[in-house]
Amino acid sequence: MDITLDLGDISKFVGRYSLGKDNGMGSLHFLRIKIPAGRISAGNLFEIANISREYGRGYAEITDRQDIHLHWIDGDKALEVFERLYKLGYTTDMCGQGFPGACYGDVRNIVSCPLGGKVNDFDASEYAVKLTSFFSGNPEYNDLPKKFKIGITACGSDCVRLGVNDLALIGIEKEGERGFVPLIGGGVGLTRPGPMLARNMAVFVPASRLFDFVKAVVGIHRDHTSRESKAMARFKNLVAAWGVDKVRKVVEDKIGELEDFTEPLNLGGDVHNGSGRQRDGRHYFTLPLVGGVLDADKLDRIAELSEMHGGGEIRLTPTQNVTFVDVEDVNALRSGLEKHFGLYDSEAFYNSIGCTSRFCGRTNDTHAKDMLGEFLGVLDKHGIKEDVRIHISGCINACGCHQVAHFGLVGKQIRRSNEIVQVYDLYTGGDSRKLKMAELYRDSLMPEEATGLFDEIMSRYRSSGKSLDEFLEVLNGVKA
Ligand code: SF4
Repeated sequence: MDITLDLGDISKFVGRYSLGKDNGMGSLHFLRIKIPAGRISAGNLFEIANISREYGRGYAEITDRQDIHLHWIDGDKALEVFERLYKLGYTTDMCGQGFPGACYGDVRNIVSCPLGGKVNDFDASEYAVKLTSFFSGNPEYNDLPKKFKIGITACGSDCVRLGVNDLALIGIEKEGERGFVPLIGGGVGLTRPGPMLARNMAVFVPASRLFDFVKAVVGIHRDHTSRESKAMARFKNLVAAWGVDKVRKVVEDKIGELEDFTEPLNLGGDVHNGSGRQRDGRHYFTLPLVGGVLDADKLDRIAELSEMHGGGEIRLTPTQNVTFVDVEDVNALRSGLEKHFGLYDSEAFYNSIGCTSRFCGRTNDTHAKDMLGEFLGVLDKHGIKEDVRIHISGCINACGCHQVAHFGLVGKQIRRSNEIVQVYDLYTGGDSRKLKMAELYRDSLMPEEATGLFDEIMSRYRSSGKSLDEFLEVLNGVKA
């Protein structure tokens, strides 16, 4: 017998909205709001501040996938909150934890260059916005074996940590034609076959064929990645089993032949921090936030200042910061910000990240976001302002991408003297821009030991006279 359920008005939420499961500090449910390409208007930011105040105790986090994370959402109020987001045109991550087995994975917020269209006219963020709209709630793609992460940039730098994505797209111009070079199969969590950085497919996908290409790759994940268990269900597992050439062949069977592209990719430049001039003569200004932690009042201040000094649009960055665009007078904006936020002139404050969430319950004291504050404090103490990247994950799920930073910490809980304690493993020498994975330097450090060891390492770095890369090479060579 067929049973038809009439979901009435709430059918618009199906496959587009879900609450995630928290388990820390009293929060039971979180909401991860997808902000397509991190681009948000001041008006929408005011409304999210209101939602945070009314339903989430006024707390908010910017995630490293350009989402806004709210916590303490009461399950009974979920439909009210979904309705508020629906009116703004936003959806949420579909969190599949509630389902046993490998199913109901979605395409996560598609990260893209926060300065798309502002410093170069090849605007990758437009593609991210359109692709997010295509995949969100699309019944053909909302039962993937597991989540699927896409990153797109065309600014010439690795501003989206390309290597950690299932599909990374690097925008280039080839003989006057715009297109993308795809990397596939990244993912740094412990699911099979372990942490992997995305591999270059060595093909050129013309911009006009991008949608077909992305649909083909996500379709391959849906139809061919193992559904045996959640641990086997990330796309990287299929890429490892098949190899890049077979993935390419199956894509070409679906959409036709692709042109080879074997030139080296240079992702060195980085223009996203501090302030700079846009193509139209106005300015951008990036506000660094330690671990992306904000509250409703601060969201209001950001929205107000954007309306006052910019064009009323804000860009959330994959480094958990906030970028003001279309700013006429940077000094006036800076003065406004100084009253409410710490402004730092250190690259490390801009480029370091810590855990997606403070409330998932997988880290005890000292939490990953607080460890990030401690480590940045060490750099400050030594007067180190250059681009030392620190990434901190509270657990092996590796949301903080600790393997692709100069210094990475990953938390775990172990038994010591009859009590469970929070400790961290320290990794060194990774670099997402070079698709280079960090190596384990020291394991199971108590939080204060980890900070002390980092202090000692930075002191040695300061007096070494070496570049950071040279120093890290020596450090990894002599690790304990
Ligand atoms: S890395 Fe672990 S502790 Fe941190 S947000 Fe992810 S699941 Fe939570």
